[in-house]
Amino acid sequence: MILPIVGLGCPILRKKAEPITPDYPDLQALIANMYETMYAADGVGLAAPQINLSIRVVVIGFRPYDEKTDSYGPVAEEHTLINPEILEFKGEKKFFNEGCLSVPDIHEDVLRPERIVLKYYDAEFKEHIEEIDGMFARVAQHEIDHLDGIVFTDHLSALRKAMIKKKINNVVAGKVRTAYRMRTATR
Ligand code: ZN
Repeated sequence: MILPIVGLGCPILRKKAEPITPDYPDLQALIANMYETMYAADGVGLAAPQINLSIRVVVIGFRPYDEKTDSYGPVAEEHTLINPEILEFKGEKKFFNEGCLSVPDIHEDVLRPERIVLKYYDAEFKEHIEEIDGMFARVAQHEIDHLDGIVFTDHLSALRKAMIKKKINNVVAGKVRTAYRMRTATR
């Protein structure tokens, strides 16, 4: 089931989300809905607060995009992160152009460490501790921020924030058009 995506301005995106236990009701259905919602919106990551649930669950998925056919291939990599925790930041900090399904039409370069040591539970509640890098590390940091009430634009310089203030205000006011269904602070 495709769920509406919560837009910046909704208070849930500023709340610290709660950890869950293995008996969380209908967890597998929830995870399946999160993947479906993320792929339908052409996203690569989705955190539960973005579908209006203040719990520490994240899905990440990459599909190769074929420019010639303007379509996505089969899923190449998926990660379900339950109660994720970044144990250590490693490597150099790098800029990467980020966007967010909750902040449509805004793309900005964000500085983050290129590698992290990540602890999380998978969909079967098996514990993992892994050192990760590349897109997985980048998207994981962005999504774990969502669990702590942080949005990617919070990381920008005061100058960049001032420059995109009008666009941010439009998102908060619900004055954005998206190809996917959104729940904004005003509607
Ligand atoms: Zn996001």
